[in-house]
Amino acid sequence: MNERFSGTIVHNEERMKINGKTKITGIFGYPIEHTLSPAMHNAAFQVLGLDYCYVPFLVHPDFLGQAVQSVRALNLAGVNVTVPHKEKIIPLLDHMNEEALFIGAVNTVVNNEGRLTGYNTDGRGFMESLAEKGISSEGKDILIIGAGGSARAVGYYLCQKANSLFIQGRTREKAKRFVQDLCRIKNNSYHIEDLSDLGRFQIIINATPLGLREEDPLPINTGALREGQIVYDLSYKETMLQKEASKLQCIVLNGLGMLLWQGALAFELWTGRKPDREIMRRALNEALSEPQGIFT
Ligand code: NDP
Repeated sequence: MNERFSGTIVHNEERMKINGKTKITGIFGYPIEHTLSPAMHNAAFQVLGLDYCYVPFLVHPDFLGQAVQSVRALNLAGVNVTVPHKEKIIPLLDHMNEEALFIGAVNTVVNNEGRLTGYNTDGRGFMESLAEKGISSEGKDILIIGAGGSARAVGYYLCQKANSLFIQGRTREKAKRFVQDLCRIKNNSYHIEDLSDLGRFQIIINATPLGLREEDPLPINTGALREGQIVYDLSYKETMLQKEASKLQCIVLNGLGMLLWQGALAFELWTGRKPDREIMRRALNEALSEPQGIFT
């Protein structure tokens, strides 16, 4: 079973109206032209009749400081942050919420009268995407491949309910540090190198970029998977891992759900309103059906 959003694509004929009071949000990234976020946020603003708009900002790494200062100078309501700025932006902000501090990466900035707070909605977005599929992490044995920003975001939440959480990472020291940090939340996380016994995990998460390029190797030996295991690949592009795991009757989830929910949570932080997630989902689907890329 592979997970792809379904639903009718809705073409909203009404044009977005920009006026003197329109609040600006957007996304800082480099590159940025492949982002799917403007489509889902603008659709959600429009359907709620909120006077906001969301635009892409191509921010070269050399200009990140000026770009952050411009959030204050231009009175933007807030921004999302994507590759390669998620970590580098931290010292440029005034305040960090607890979860973003643990993760060490920011994907959402809120501007409150010039005071900028960094959040990370990826982990909560991931958990919401599991919940909407009726999947709970409670009491499960879980494996995360990767020890970067997204692994830390999902690990922060998963360790709190899982029976055990195992981390495998390319850079051993980084993976071990991640485990130590997780154990400060709950003492049920372990570092693992040998992935021959995948059958012991009920949930397996790929939090590496492996699979985004055709020539990438598989992050795990899919031959060791068993029917009914949950394989969650954070990439929302269809990967070989997703295809192979589907063939083996695993329950396969891709990163689209997480992308949607992290966006919905950012939307709430900026506007104080809950967006219509089905509208966001459809807009995401529509944007995805166009030639697009791999960035949030
Ligand atoms: P990071 O760069 O922060 O971390 C990547 C991790 O993958 C690191 O642990 C890194 O190893 C490891 N890695 C990178 N390349 C390889 C490789 N060739 N072989 C083995 N391990 C490798 O990236 P993110 O955590 O931000 O992103 C990871 C994936 O998650 C991406 O595909 C991204 O698109 C996706 N993502 C999806 C989101 C969504 O909403 N669906 C949100 C955020 C991310 P090392 O420890 O050595 O650095």
